[in-house]
Amino acid sequence: MRTATKEPNSKFLKVRCSKCKNEQFVFGKPASQVNCLVCNTSLVEPSGGKGKIKGRVLEVLE
Ligand SMILES: [Zn+2]
Repeated sequence: MRTATKEPNSKFLKVRCSKCKNEQFVFGKPASQVNCLVCNTSLVEPSGGKGKIKGRVLEVLE
């Protein structure tokens, strides 16, 4: 069965760290904060069920 409603934030996003330019995939709707693997800057913070993206989103994977 497929759901009719689309949740735009429940995807994987390719985010570039604003500090060190590292690119990594993060879940768009994280349960906890996601940090950059290189410099440990926070890339996504959970906020009311959807993620707050701190870096630059380069790509969205459907
Ligand atoms: Zn970084």
